[in-house]
Amino acid sequence: MYPAPFNYHRARSVDQAIELYSRLGEGARFLAGGQSLLPILKLRFDEPTDLVDIGRIPGLDSIEVNNSAARVGALASHRRIGGSALATSVPIVADCALGIADNQVRTRGTIGGSVASGDPSCDWPVLLHTLDARIHCRGPGGERTLDINGFVESLYQTRLDQGELVCGIEFNLPGPGSGGAYCAFKRCAPAFPTISVGVQLSLDGDQVKSVRVALGSAAPAPVRSHQAEAELQGGALSTERVARAADAAVASADPFDDQRGSAAYKRQLIATLTRRAVDIAQRRARGESVKNSHEYY
Ligand SMILES: Cc1cc2nc3c(=O)[nH]c(=O)nc-3n(C[C@H](O)[C@H](O)[C@H](O)COP(=O)(O)OP(=O)(O)OC[C@H]3O[C@@H](n4cnc5c(N)ncnc54)[C@H](O)[C@@H]3O)c2cc1C
Repeated sequence: MYPAPFNYHRARSVDQAIELYSRLGEGARFLAGGQSLLPILKLRFDEPTDLVDIGRIPGLDSIEVNNSAARVGALASHRRIGGSALATSVPIVADCALGIADNQVRTRGTIGGSVASGDPSCDWPVLLHTLDARIHCRGPGGERTLDINGFVESLYQTRLDQGELVCGIEFNLPGPGSGGAYCAFKRCAPAFPTISVGVQLSLDGDQVKSVRVALGSAAPAPVRSHQAEAELQGGALSTERVARAADAAVASADPFDDQRGSAAYKRQLIATLTRRAVDIAQRRARGESVKNSHEYY
């Protein structure tokens, strides 16, 4: 199906995009890579009057890394991030970026669009919970920085105000003794994960000094599993402790039946992927090079 007719506007700067959106009103939508928005328009789930294309705003696709932090521009594509030096130095970033859909979607789709879409199956918002990311936004009311925790409030609902743009995403680089893994299970490449689990931890000897556990496609919004973190934090990673963390991750999820699987099946996947992600994360934290990619049925 074709989308309903709309007016197209190309913004040449962030200021112009915000000004255009403010003038056009609530019928307007920002367009970045179009990989989430265009399918929605073609299905006529949404019929905006105007699209404000932000896809060619100069400088918004940069990937900057200094000694302690990384800042990724909203327009950085999944593919560029996956091939960046950042992905090489922070393996959980590569796990996520290179597993999203297929090459076409990865080439067009952007990290900013993934975060702003509020889709609980999108990989980036889940991954960013494991890195305590901050979302830099700018809108008619000025600039502000939002914590990734709580940024996606519910199904397709975010804390963005109307006409507010995600400009970039920032997180601190994991220190020495840290490792992470993002594990996702899906039907095929161009499909969203049935379940995904991200774990980022740091070790002091064999003790877990800090840990983040986040789940995707497991509830109407990404889930940060504080219960699973509490099971892992402060002790050695014994089989029993990891099994308790996997159970706790399942308890913190609220999956629903859909075409990707039943809620019961998804709970099984959460437990399995949590164990797997903890295993890979702790091996990487010890300096082992471990290959990891999204798995298909
Ligand atoms: C076949 C297929 C399979 C896919 N599989 C996966 C998958 O496995 N995992 C996954 O994570 N994703 C998947 N996707 C989605 C893909 O990653 C999208 O690229 C991403 O979700 C949205 O990015 P985009 O740049 O395309 O945003 P768009 O589609 O252009 O926009 C999405 C929404 O965000 C808003 N928006 C976009 N950018 C901004 C911004 N900077 N500030 C404020 N609002 C903004 C738009 O107005 C729109 O509402 C898939 C898509 C397709 C078509």
